[in-house]
Amino acid sequence: MTIARTESTTLSNGVKMPWLGLGVWKVKDDGEAERTVTSAIEAGYRSIDTAAAYNNETGVGAGIRNSGIAREEIFVTTKIWNAHQGYESTLTAFEDSRRKLGIDVVDLLLIHWPVKDKYTETWRALEKLYRDGYVRAIGVSNFQIHHLRDVIETGEFVPMVNQVEYHPLLTQNELHSFAKSRNIQLMAWSPLMQGNLDHAILADIGAKYGKTPAQVVLRWDLQNEVITIPKSVTPARQQENADIFDFALTPEEVAQINALNRDQRFGPDPDNFNF
Ligand code: NDP
Repeated sequence: MTIARTESTTLSNGVKMPWLGLGVWKVKDDGEAERTVTSAIEAGYRSIDTAAAYNNETGVGAGIRNSGIAREEIFVTTKIWNAHQGYESTLTAFEDSRRKLGIDVVDLLLIHWPVKDKYTETWRALEKLYRDGYVRAIGVSNFQIHHLRDVIETGEFVPMVNQVEYHPLLTQNELHSFAKSRNIQLMAWSPLMQGNLDHAILADIGAKYGKTPAQVVLRWDLQNEVITIPKSVTPARQQENADIFDFALTPEEVAQINALNRDQRFGPDPDNFNF
């Protein structure tokens, strides 16, 4: 499988979305977000994953504007936070995100978490924003199969993306198969296990190609057809994480990494969270 650095997957509605993006959770809005986005775009990233809850949409927007790259060449994802779920409050929260980002049309808008008794109403609001042309694609995050079934049954559109925790210790096999069967693109959060990359098999495979454990994991995402959004504020690491398009894992190596799965989460369980 060969994929170029700027190559995209095509979502179910025909919109193209880069396989690689930059995550910006925990990146501060005091200049750090702007610097981080600018250096990532210099390193070749063309997709940024933020959220209202990250409190850095202003800096992300500034970084995009100052990058010298045309707005339409950068794919921007943001998310509706839990406290803002519901129909009207989602529309208001989206306006706030759009203003902070300083962009007219958001490329991908996600429901951040499946807040009980709220997420189908929130989905109706996302569908309206999509129909009205304010967002190019809509999706969800942290949705299990039963949450996906709910929105598919009650909504007009099937979510185009589901962004979930996904890495070698949490391969989400059932969820991934279900998503594939409905043409929902899976997107990995915490792909680098939040920096916990100390697994001998990753180092061994990397040594064969002259690649780091981080690069091996990110390449594994792509070969499993999962969009990946590693976060780094460190320019050298941003470059390292983007340098994954000149080698390919063998099917045996992909299987070896798949076999690390322990259903282990670093983040909250979408069936049992209280925020
Ligand atoms: P990641 O798995 O991307 O890991 C980020 C950590 O790894 C940082 O501490 C970073 O350090 C470090 N790191 C980055 N590159 C390397 C490297 N090459 N070698 C060693 N360490 C490295 O964690 P995140 O939790 O940030 O996940 C990525 C993105 O996913 C988020 O930023 C966010 O956009 C999204 N996300 C979405 C969630 C959701 O609920 N939808 C939940 C969590 C995340 P440093 O920055 O100091 O270089």
